Amino acid sequence: MTDNRAPQDEDTAERKMRFLFALRSRGVTDQRVLAAMERIDRGAFVRGIFADRAYDDMPLPIACGQTISQPSVVGLMTQALEVSPRDKVLEVGTGSGYQAAVLSLLARRVYTVDRHRRLVREAEEVFARLNLTNITARTADGSFGLPEQAPFDRILVTAAAEDPPGPLLAQMRIGAIMVLPVGQSDTVQSLIRVRRTETGFEYEELRAVRFVPLVEGLAQE
Ligand code: SAH
Repeated sequence: MTDNRAPQDEDTAERKMRFLFALRSRGVTDQRVLAAMERIDRGAFVRGIFADRAYDDMPLPIACGQTISQPSVVGLMTQALEVSPRDKVLEVGTGSGYQAAVLSLLARRVYTVDRHRRLVREAEEVFARLNLTNITARTADGSFGLPEQAPFDRILVTAAAEDPPGPLLAQMRIGAIMVLPVGQSDTVQSLIRVRRTETGFEYEELRAVRFVPLVEGLAQE
């Protein structure tokens, strides 16, 4: 049988297969999460000289000295968040916008905040280009959450705090789940999952991770 695809299509298909294979082999097994990550082109969120590494399973530098997380970590965190289509989700740490884009295919509405105005603006441009209309991005200090939209069904934090910030715990609805890295920023941190029950909070440790620190206050740019 002859293969009628153009060489470029072949590359794209092969790249996508490798990308999904890496996710699965690192434990991302949730079909909805895999389907969302197959649809959102990570290449749209990586600019400049690292653009050709967008489909490798590694974190990459983005503007403002920040990083776009490793795809398998995005997959594992998204999976741990157990998002359902009716959920209102808050993400703290917009960065490139990639994680918010993946969440937007799984949730009803996504609010994402970053302390860097520039990152928020650039992420908004990509959301518009990809026609992701259920994401609202704001420049804000996410350690205070987003009180005007609280409570949330799910909260995902993509920068490491020493402890779960009180305002974020307070903005969880009963039954809500929050996934976040905690620990000192210059050592290994743990990814933890917090569930809010009728009577309090349950904590579970998931795995070791390494994230940039959650920093207080707005940034200069
Ligand atoms: N989720 C991103 C990666 C985030 S990197 C992605 O998919 O690309 C962590 C981000 O957290 C950085 O952009 C950093 O500016 C942001 N951040 C750090 N402290 C913050 C705070 N207090 N409030 C909001 N954003 C914060």
